Amino acid sequence: MSDSILIIGGGLAAQRAGETLRRAGHDGPVTIVCAEPHRPYDRPPLSKEVLTGHNEPEQVFFRAPDWYRDEDLELVTGTAATRLHRSERRVELEDGSELAYDKLLIATGSRPRTLPAFERFENVSVLRTLDDSLQLNEALRGASRIVVIGAGFIGQEVAAGARKLGVEVTMVEAAPSILGHMLGEQVGGWFADLHRSHGVDVVLGHQVQDVVGNGHVQALSLSDGSTVEVDHVVVGIGVAPDTEWLLGTGLIGIGLAGGAPAGVEVGDAGRTLDANVFAAGDAAATYDPVLGRHMPGSHWEAAARQGARAARAMLGLDPGIAPVSSFWTDQYGLRVQYLGRAPLADETVIDGSPEERDFTVIYRRAGRPVAALLVNRPGALPEVRRLLETGSELALSA
Ligand SMILES: Cc1cc2nc3c(=O)[nH]c(=O)nc-3n(C[C@H](O)[C@H](O)[C@H](O)COP(=O)(O)OP(=O)(O)OC[C@H]3O[C@@H](n4cnc5c(N)ncnc54)[C@H](O)[C@@H]3O)c2cc1C
Repeated sequence: MSDSILIIGGGLAAQRAGETLRRAGHDGPVTIVCAEPHRPYDRPPLSKEVLTGHNEPEQVFFRAPDWYRDEDLELVTGTAATRLHRSERRVELEDGSELAYDKLLIATGSRPRTLPAFERFENVSVLRTLDDSLQLNEALRGASRIVVIGAGFIGQEVAAGARKLGVEVTMVEAAPSILGHMLGEQVGGWFADLHRSHGVDVVLGHQVQDVVGNGHVQALSLSDGSTVEVDHVVVGIGVAPDTEWLLGTGLIGIGLAGGAPAGVEVGDAGRTLDANVFAAGDAAATYDPVLGRHMPGSHWEAAARQGARAARAMLGLDPGIAPVSSFWTDQYGLRVQYLGRAPLADETVIDGSPEERDFTVIYRRAGRPVAALLVNRPGALPEVRRLLETGSELALSA
């Protein structure tokens, strides 16, 4: 167990992999290389408590600096990997140095998609890093109205956080409903109502047509004919795997997707086509049975569990059970949790009261549960997870 293990990327998947390696008894060298200047930290609070200023930035770090020294994990921050030489088992870094490995874990996560129309403007943000969150918090404190482009989870959480700070919000979504393609039109309508009830102007089925301003966005013209004056714009239109540094290595199996590099195609426990290279987290593309192809990740639990499983697989240990796809979001004091793959469903059953914001949606296919959405019912999660994992029927009143 003395192989040298190199982890590229210093986020959640990297952290969990490092912890698991040591816990499993690996006593060889482990190095974590992260492009950001910070030690590994947790991202969910960045669009929630850190964004609204309710948590201190220091609270997001997974571990104290001493922990890495005590566990003998070498942490290299502030420099990115720029090139992988698979046949020679070495990685080039931005600072000109090189690192050799016996086993490599790719955990470089993802980066926000951007809109070319906003490239020249200063008062436009994306939200991925701790520094992004702190800057956006400052921008929100000086703003009367913002426009959020995209009603995915990050866009929705930014809208909710901005409302909490008393900022007027217009949320513009090109699709006709909020996450309807994934969760169904009924749930999409519920999300739109939730935001509207908190004063967000939700514009669905429209896009930004024109940006007014010179280096500073003053107003946006929308395709519904309206114009919105704005102090700040937040673009939340999804993420793409941060795998550009792997172009040409043969690991990015599905080529370019929408102009951005694709994820590292993995099989079970993060294995790639190279026996010495593994991938985990948002940078890894796992097989999606709905779409019939590999898709990169974008959620916390998958990244955490994939990091741990890949670490065990690297050591030749049983990686344990693969996680059911899941995520959660916190908005306006409500916790929404989702498990499984709702687009597989041919039927939905609702238990509880959407009006009172206390309900469960079970998505079924041929009578079997394939996904579930829980609103304000965190206590029900373990049971729902067990039922999805065993494929059992749920005893719902509806
Ligand atoms: C604001 C925000 C809120 C979120 N909220 C939720 C939520 O409520 N629920 C949920 O399920 N999920 C949420 N997520 C998603 C979840 O945080 C991610 O899925 C998870 O962080 C992915 O972990 P990762 O380790 O794969 O990547 P990351 O956490 O992104 O870490 C990757 C790291 O690798 C570094 N890196 C990139 N390229 C290189 C390189 N070439 N060399 C070296 N280092 C590199 C990056 O700088 C980064 O630090 C949220 C994400 C964000 C951004």
